[in-house]
Amino acid sequence: MIRVAVAGAAGRMGATTCEAIEGADDLQLTGRADPLLGTEVADALGDAEVLVDFTTPETALANALQALRAGVHVVIGTTGFDPAPLAAETGAQGQPNVLIAPNFAIGAVLMMRFAEQAAPHMAKAEIIELHHDRKLDAPSGTAARTAELMAKATGGEEPPIHSVRLPGLVANQEVLLGDLGQTLSIRHDTTSRESFMPGVLLAVRRVGALERSPVVGLEHLLF
Ligand code: NAP
Repeated sequence: MIRVAVAGAAGRMGATTCEAIEGADDLQLTGRADPLLGTEVADALGDAEVLVDFTTPETALANALQALRAGVHVVIGTTGFDPAPLAAETGAQGQPNVLIAPNFAIGAVLMMRFAEQAAPHMAKAEIIELHHDRKLDAPSGTAARTAELMAKATGGEEPPIHSVRLPGLVANQEVLLGDLGQTLSIRHDTTSRESFMPGVLLAVRRVGALERSPVVGLEHLLF
């Protein structure tokens, strides 16, 4: 049994994650932190081995640092913050590990990979990302990561990102590539937050055994 605490446990992603952990035979939900529940990360960590963070761009870094200093591995799904300060608290012998995934949905990971492969073969590209209107960060972490991967693949500039925020949406992204007389669209649509759960549980199961840390991107566990 891997003991898991969840930060942001009353939020949209955190609540879905708690349900998924409770439904897994090899995982035990040992703590829930969320202002809505009146619980803080310090209380929720208890004897957890892994903390999963789905909170806000303002709080994710402090939560992760707190867990690492308590010897707890961290899986971060929160987007829109700079994770650079985590490097000093992970990666050395005996330190706990960090896995950061801008998107835990396998389809989104494949979309990023296909966009990275296509980018060097087409003249120009732009990214349109569409999310629900309560999302705090723009551009999305997935779009920012896609642009970064595409720029690395081409050796050029990151493609521009357009952000749409509307009620009724969950998470969608289209990468549009254009060249003489043709366009290519690579699109991923999330219709339910359950799409993220196989990736979250995989990360929880594997974070303790990473050979380096921090690791950014679920693709490192999949391919
Ligand atoms: P949400 O519904 O607003 O949930 C965030 C929850 O965290 C809220 O209940 C919030 O409480 C709570 N919180 C705030 N500060 C906290 C702290 N210090 N400790 C513990 N809990 C705290 O947001 P969401 O839609 O679940 O999204 C959460 C994050 O996940 C966002 O950054 C989003 O972009 C990201 N996300 C990632 C993926 C992925 O695959 N990686 C997929 C979807 C979303 P209050 O409301 O009281 O502040």
